Amino acid sequence: MRNILTLLLLASPPWAGDGKLTGADAAHGSQSPAIPISEVIRHTIEAQAKGQVRVAGVVTACQPTTQSTFLRPGERIEAAPVLRHAVFRPAGRAETPQPVATGDRDADLVRLEGWLLRSIRRPDEHGDQLSGLLTGSRLALTGICTVHAGANSLPRSFELLLRQPADAVVLANPPWWWASHILAILAAMAVAVVLAVAWGLALRRRMRSQAAMLSQKRDAEAALEERYRDLFDNASDLVFTSTLDCRLTSLNCAAERVCGYRREEAVGKSVLDIMASDQRERAAEIFGELATGAPMPPFALDLITAAGARRTVEVSAHLLRRAGREPELEYIARDVTERMRAEAELKHAKDAAEAANQAKSEFLANMSHEIRTPLNGLMGMTELALDTELDAEQREYLTTVKSSADMLLTIINEILDFSKIESGKMALEMTPFEVRPFMEESAKALLVRAEQKGLVVVRDVRPDVPEWVVGDAVRLRQILLNLTGNAVKFTERGGISVAVECEERTSTEVRLRFSVADTGIGIPLDKQNTIFEAFVQADGSTTRRYGGTGLGLAISARLAGLMGGTIRVESRPAEGSTFTFTARLGIGAPAHPSTPAAPAETTLPRPTRPLRILLAEDNPVNQRLALLLLQKQGHSVAVAANGEEALRACGQEEFDLALMDVQMPVMDGIACTRAIREREGATQRHLPVVAMTAHALKADRDRCLKAGMDDYVSKPVRVKELAEAIERCVAAPATAPAVETW
Ligand code: ADP
Repeated sequence: MRNILTLLLLASPPWAGDGKLTGADAAHGSQSPAIPISEVIRHTIEAQAKGQVRVAGVVTACQPTTQSTFLRPGERIEAAPVLRHAVFRPAGRAETPQPVATGDRDADLVRLEGWLLRSIRRPDEHGDQLSGLLTGSRLALTGICTVHAGANSLPRSFELLLRQPADAVVLANPPWWWASHILAILAAMAVAVVLAVAWGLALRRRMRSQAAMLSQKRDAEAALEERYRDLFDNASDLVFTSTLDCRLTSLNCAAERVCGYRREEAVGKSVLDIMASDQRERAAEIFGELATGAPMPPFALDLITAAGARRTVEVSAHLLRRAGREPELEYIARDVTERMRAEAELKHAKDAAEAANQAKSEFLANMSHEIRTPLNGLMGMTELALDTELDAEQREYLTTVKSSADMLLTIINEILDFSKIESGKMALEMTPFEVRPFMEESAKALLVRAEQKGLVVVRDVRPDVPEWVVGDAVRLRQILLNLTGNAVKFTERGGISVAVECEERTSTEVRLRFSVADTGIGIPLDKQNTIFEAFVQADGSTTRRYGGTGLGLAISARLAGLMGGTIRVESRPAEGSTFTFTARLGIGAPAHPSTPAAPAETTLPRPTRPLRILLAEDNPVNQRLALLLLQKQGHSVAVAANGEEALRACGQEEFDLALMDVQMPVMDGIACTRAIREREGATQRHLPVVAMTAHALKADRDRCLKAGMDDYVSKPVRVKELAEAIERCVAAPATAPAVETW
């Protein structure tokens, strides 16, 4: 193989370069004998001394060159090589060189087997083709061996020049234990170990923090539990728990204290066993509901303590669900025994006060009735007597009797009014009235008495006061009369002024301010507030100069309050007083204002025709009085002593009218009237019935009208009032009013 010419193409890769022939320098021409190329390559001093050499050999590998001669491996050639642009020519055919298996042949075509330990990738297409070779693979490589000598010309390394990619044959893929694999595995293991260690550390840290959290939670729970226990034990309310079938499982100190059972005695007992026996059924129902989880409003139950005492507790209970534990009922109860007792006592006291008030009202009504009945006779007979021929002295006596009776009636009316206001039964009428005539009327009563005392009276209605207002003129006049009456009573010199002005006004409402000023005795400062209280007088001494009940201002203040106003006084002793009160009134005139009323007649109205009248009255004096009054008016009268007699008389005779007392023995006026109305039934007949009663309250009047009566006069009967009521009834069309039965 030493005689084989080996041509190497140094272009990279060697078989695809630009066709450079490498080898020792050799002389051109065929004259000099050719030497094996290996000797040219194995460059020695001796070879150099020969000068230009001619080389001959067989082509092992070739690559395109600038020469036109085409060579194939195996072709024998001769060449006079130069290191650059070598010229070669064919010299015949020889056997294609075969690689030798072993040996240290420089520039020989050799075949080697070995492990691919490392590959360096070159950036060309063949580099790419060989890049698939795996490190650690067993390879068979066929290529031209180039031995590299060291400084001492001893071989140091060699290089194998592959002719084509196919010269590298993979004999075996790298075994798994190949170093790089092992390294990779070791690296992966190391990474895994590091990761495992890191994960372990992280896990440990996490576990530690979780353990810390757990312990904190446990501590917090323990603190909470302790706090709950503390609250539970020290709560003033009773706190206890039970199973769903009401067996006690725990109770706090307050529950122990109230029930009288120690904890160990109570636990296991049924809650129902400590309930009052009359409440067990209800309690069982409630607890059954609670066990279903249904919410229940607080409820009151009575329990029996260990000492046998009955105590009332207000309980709010609910179903308690706790993780890992059986559901329980929790009860929070408050001992309300004392409160209930106090409430019961309060209610009792209230009931007693109401009963006393009721009794007072009834007493007042009865007293009023009882006083009015004799007063009726007294006043009526006096009026009748004054209507007869009398000498001056007799007339004076009788006039005094009449004014005393009038005063007595005023007092009774005041007491009744006050009682009505106190019991909330005073209702105000809302009717339109004209302010200026109203003020004139009110001042009239004042004028007579003021003139008698030589007092000057000034009246002033300011222009901003509306003409018409809507309210209760009767009650408004009552306040004014009381104030002006007092002004006259408590003033000896000087004068009195009565004024009204507008304090506030909207389109529908007006607040009027009334003031009554006098130059009288005045009121001490410390008394100015108390005089509005009932039965209080500025001068409460037994030596007081002025009479009165002390009720007038109390009634006035309450009436002003009912009218949405207030009353107050400004006064200086010995200089005088000014009372002012306000009243909220509607604004509005009636749809059809009536013509101004004719001045009140002082004489009795003459009856339009004589009537046949049935008088039902049990009191002999009042019977006599009514008989005389009616006969004086020209009527004929049949007398019945009670309702039954009256009803019988109605069946026997036709009357034009019946005067009916209400309170009578056997059958009262109400029952009698109802019976009369029932008997009349659907017939066209209608007997006008006028109540004549000492029951003077508005409710009494309403009761009479509901029973089927047509009109009402209260005792003491004024002759004029009675005559007017009779006239109203007989003048009205005789239509049957609706009778309410009850
Ligand atoms: P009566 O006048 O019936 O005693 P009142 O309630 O009307 O009751 O008055 C209560 C008290 O107020 C009177 O007793 C009187 O002491 C005092 N008083 C009322 N008005 C005047 C007034 N114009 N001047 C002085 N004192 C008065």
